[in-house]
Amino acid sequence: MLRDTNCGELRKEHAARTVRLAGWVNRRRDHGGLIFVDLRDRSGLVQVVINPQTAPDAYRVADQLRNEWVVAINGTVGVRPAGTENPRLPTGGVEVYAQQVEVLNASKTPPFAIADEAEVEESLRLRYRYLYLRRSRMLRNLTLRHEVVQYIRRFLDARGFLDVETPILTRSTPEGARDYLVPSRVNPGQFYALPQSPQQLKQLLMVAGVERYYQIARCFRDEDLRADRQPEFTQLDLEMSFVEQKDILDLIEAMYTGMIEELCPAKRVVKPFPRITYREAMDRYGSDKPDMRFGLPLTDLSAEMAETQFQVLRQALAQGGVVKGVLAPGSADYSRKQLDDLAQLARDRGARGLVTIALRGGAQSLDALTMEDVHSVAARFFALPQVKAMARRLEAKPGDLLLLVAGPREVVNASLGALRLEVGHRMGLADPSMMAWGFVTDFPLFEWNAQEKRWNAAHHPFTAPHPEDMERLESDPASMRSQAYDLVCNGNEIASGSIRIHQPELQERVFRVLGYSREDAQERFGHLLEAFSYGAPPHGGIAPGIDRTVMLLADEESLREVIAFPKTQNATDLLFGAPSTVRPEQLREVHLRVVEATPQSAKEPQSSA
Ligand code: ASP
Repeated sequence: MLRDTNCGELRKEHAARTVRLAGWVNRRRDHGGLIFVDLRDRSGLVQVVINPQTAPDAYRVADQLRNEWVVAINGTVGVRPAGTENPRLPTGGVEVYAQQVEVLNASKTPPFAIADEAEVEESLRLRYRYLYLRRSRMLRNLTLRHEVVQYIRRFLDARGFLDVETPILTRSTPEGARDYLVPSRVNPGQFYALPQSPQQLKQLLMVAGVERYYQIARCFRDEDLRADRQPEFTQLDLEMSFVEQKDILDLIEAMYTGMIEELCPAKRVVKPFPRITYREAMDRYGSDKPDMRFGLPLTDLSAEMAETQFQVLRQALAQGGVVKGVLAPGSADYSRKQLDDLAQLARDRGARGLVTIALRGGAQSLDALTMEDVHSVAARFFALPQVKAMARRLEAKPGDLLLLVAGPREVVNASLGALRLEVGHRMGLADPSMMAWGFVTDFPLFEWNAQEKRWNAAHHPFTAPHPEDMERLESDPASMRSQAYDLVCNGNEIASGSIRIHQPELQERVFRVLGYSREDAQERFGHLLEAFSYGAPPHGGIAPGIDRTVMLLADEESLREVIAFPKTQNATDLLFGAPSTVRPEQLREVHLRVVEATPQSAKEPQSSA
């Protein structure tokens, strides 16, 4: 037997037991004639002591050991002498006295230390992924990811969901990104698309009568990668028949609450998850993925400012805009520089400017406030009762700072939303141990594509319109709400979903608004329209991101820390060297010719025709 015990499991109650361990040399130290080896396997570390007096053969072998060598050790568990315990290690009360040390494999010196937590440059981390994954933090993340997926499977299985696999070689599904294409060898000149999500497939499964489907599905989107995106990512893809929005939200809420209670009991989850409309989210938080760990709502002060002498605000109101404010608690003594930074943030989001009003001085309450205490470059435009009225609406106290933006509603919401986040984070109001989940519902159905001068589906074209708005579908697409919803947490979008269209006539009407001619629609979605004509049940679904869920639960900042083999910002795989050029015959077989030299193929000239 190569081993009979895991390193990380040894405790005082195992004293005097003989064990055979196997693992990696995490660290080796020579100390007072003894050799100490921290032996590591997936379960953790344990200290092994090799004494030249009692185990001369083991000592000779141990003397050769270097970090990351793979060894097997026979020894006896002992309680560490008083004063040498290591309370930071779960096995820190014991050590193993080796009788025999056997080298199973040597190791080159790794490009970075596995044993410590020192930052490693990203390219090295990805190039030597298998070494980086040896680090305990990464193994912990992989384990958590496994637990999350197992929890989901158990949860859905218990509720009658069927796990159905759908093809990876398929046809373009419109989720709004570019497709990854795969040339077909046997159908010259034709291409598969990798699924951006199994959206149409899961809807077809509903037509097929599956009723409750889920899949831990890989999705592929060829997008320019922002910091928190990966070209391939994993979703819990889910679809249900004979349900309304509430059924789906209830299910997802129960799944996430249960999951976190079981897997991350130290996290505080606010229950029940608030459900707010898109309109409310934008008005109150200036974001459709609000961080609801703290309040500081955006507050409409247009009424308080109706009579203002302040030209900037007056004008904004006269043009049909709004004046809104947000509170920065305890920030009345912000420096010029700090205020300028906030103003820049507002301007970055399109605001013309930011009005700040600091309530300084020692007034005990708002009532006691005098104009002396009001500090603002625009102070002369405000009367004391106006300032007090605004302060009251924002629930401000002396010592607080009021931030005001005026202009068109969208711009005001976006810029104050950014200020709210900045203030919340600066003041430490976003408690990292708290998970403020919520649903945002009633998203707009369409988005205006100014470049192409047409409507795009805001979610995807299969999303059902809001029943109350149905008769405006053709006449006023801009005002149409949808039955689409998002699950958000701490300022992150975790899932999107919707109740779907299940009548072919309505689906065709939506395609028409999206600018697809009857022929276009037939050519691209004929299969779906036809399927709907055979008795499609009402259905809806949602797709939470697994990577992002695990990232939040693991308190990681980057998706790459919770994916075993992630890609870089440029969508490259540094371990395998993908993408890569291919041999000319391979290209010929799939009927392709490279016409535009990529930077890479330019470096390795080849006749690829
Ligand atoms: N297919 C959608 C997405 O990937 C999710 C859904 O509507 O279920 O965002």
